[in-house]
Amino acid sequence: MRTVILGGGIAGCALAAALRGSQLGAEVSILERRTVSKPAGMGFLLLENGIRGLEQIAPTVAWRRQGQPIERLRLRASNGADLDAPRIAPALCVSRAKFLALLRTATGDATWLEGRSLIDFALDETDWLTHVRCDDGSSIQGDAFFACDGAASRSRSLAFPHAQLGSVVVQEIVSTAYAPALAQRLGTTFHKFHAAAGGLAVGLLSESPDTVVWFVQFDSRRHQAPTKDGPSIARFVTERLRGWSSEVLAAVEATDFDLSHVWETRDLMPLTDIHRGNLALVGDAAHACLPFTSQGANGAIEDAAALQRLLANIGTKADLRAALPTYSALHRHQRRRVFDEGRRLRDAFLQPLAERAPAIPLVE
Ligand SMILES: Cc1cc2nc3c(=O)[nH]c(=O)nc-3n(C[C@H](O)[C@H](O)[C@H](O)COP(=O)(O)OP(=O)(O)OC[C@H]3O[C@@H](n4cnc5c(N)ncnc54)[C@H](O)[C@@H]3O)c2cc1C
Repeated sequence: MRTVILGGGIAGCALAAALRGSQLGAEVSILERRTVSKPAGMGFLLLENGIRGLEQIAPTVAWRRQGQPIERLRLRASNGADLDAPRIAPALCVSRAKFLALLRTATGDATWLEGRSLIDFALDETDWLTHVRCDDGSSIQGDAFFACDGAASRSRSLAFPHAQLGSVVVQEIVSTAYAPALAQRLGTTFHKFHAAAGGLAVGLLSESPDTVVWFVQFDSRRHQAPTKDGPSIARFVTERLRGWSSEVLAAVEATDFDLSHVWETRDLMPLTDIHRGNLALVGDAAHACLPFTSQGANGAIEDAAALQRLLANIGTKADLRAALPTYSALHRHQRRRVFDEGRRLRDAFLQPLAERAPAIPLVE
């Protein structure tokens, strides 16, 4: 059977790896609008559910030896004073670019169709998809389609026009800093600093012995977001974080803000079904969540692992039609929980510290 994966980010690569060895994995095309040899992004936390999923879909890679182990969390005030040090399960901080490059090696001999975007498709009267159209005029035929095209998924808007993204309340500026001394000082601890008034926080993690991944989260109703160019981001960050703890200032000092990314965070109202006919939504396309949950990449990997189990023996259209409703049902409760927790964590983030202690910034 011919499989078409729409989007070659984490969900798309994880799924291609997961389908290897099955009939659906015999002929896989991955459509990716970016040039894949130039992966973008800063980094994220791999949590236990993501690591277990990776070990299932690509068991030959030593996933637990990637990135930097994160064993502790320190919740701190903006001046560095400790507020709390809740226990967290061990996790890994990984560079998105390095991680994606490694995951791509696990996709085997899938055909990459790079630099092309999906623009259109039409399901027939039996909800069956036969081909998709791309912006270069080409069309790709297939028997099974997987929408892995991210939070603003074009595939989802075509097949699930009622799906709704939440509005942007919090924005996040994600950066990396080459800062060996700071990386060493942070060690295996995720530090999160909070403004007393709420609605502004900074997270710092070391991703390697010399690199720090860090982010500024802000309430975009209280803080006018910078335009997306380096000087404007640098000005915003420097002004907002003046007088913050020495670790935060060291990260600011070592950052090239031309490489920073401003992210308008939006979650997706939970969908009852994440499949239609022979099309399944995977990763952020199925359940975009707020960054407070740290579940974006982990949830995408979990989806791929679930599809690997469900689709291992699929050989006909009828098998596929019968299997995908189980995929929709499988993590429905978990998707709802992550959405609700993301909203709860955002509410906590927006409130002054005097009214609410800072929350643990991840959902396990
Ligand atoms: C460039 C980039 C950088 C990121 N950096 C970070 C980060 O530093 N930290 C973090 O926590 N999260 C980051 N994320 C988000 C994170 O990767 C996702 O939330 C999570 O991993 C879920 O992955 P996904 O594959 O479902 O979605 P995504 O990672 O968003 O991947 C979707 C893929 O589909 C492609 N695509 C989208 N539309 C089309 C189309 N019409 N046709 C063809 N291809 C299409 C995109 O180019 C992308 O490669 C980033 C996402 C992207 C796209």
